[in-house]
Amino acid sequence: MTLPMNAQKVSMHFIEKIKELSGENVKVCMQCGTCTSACPMSDEMDFFPRKVMHYSQFGLLQNLENINSYWKCASCHSCTVRCPRGIDIAKVMEALRLLVLRTSTNYIEPSQIPAEKLQEYPGIMMVAGFRKLTS
Ligand code: SF4
Ligand code: SF4
Repeated sequence: MTLPMNAQKVSMHFIEKIKELSGENVKVCMQCGTCTSACPMSDEMDFFPRKVMHYSQFGLLQNLENINSYWKCASCHSCTVRCPRGIDIAKVMEALRLLVLRTSTNYIEPSQIPAEKLQEYPGIMMVAGFRKLTS
């Protein structure tokens, strides 16, 4: 199937943006699934890392909107050290988060966190979480 011209432009721009933000060329992914099998968070994700890479390498931005996969990524690099194509998948996940955060969209809303939880959670966890999940 051939994408309409404007859809092709969107796809190419999306792939280039991922490369700009992550430094990674997602087009070399060979869909082996090693990243998914290595990922400790895959059970929590809407789409496994392999599928996130698949949608990324074809520039299918619309399939990556409103999913939790890149937010659930723990940045553990377990996938990255195993990828036979040498792709830093953790960086790609971060790039996808940045694309959303740069639209001033938060994944979590600090104001929605109950006050008792704010007292209960360790400060370092809150700081790390806010840095990763808020714009
Ligand atoms: S391990 Fe690497 S090559 Fe294999 S599916 Fe994941 S990103 Fe693609
Ligand atoms: S860096 Fe993210 S995607 Fe890769 S194995 Fe860890 S949690 Fe999974």
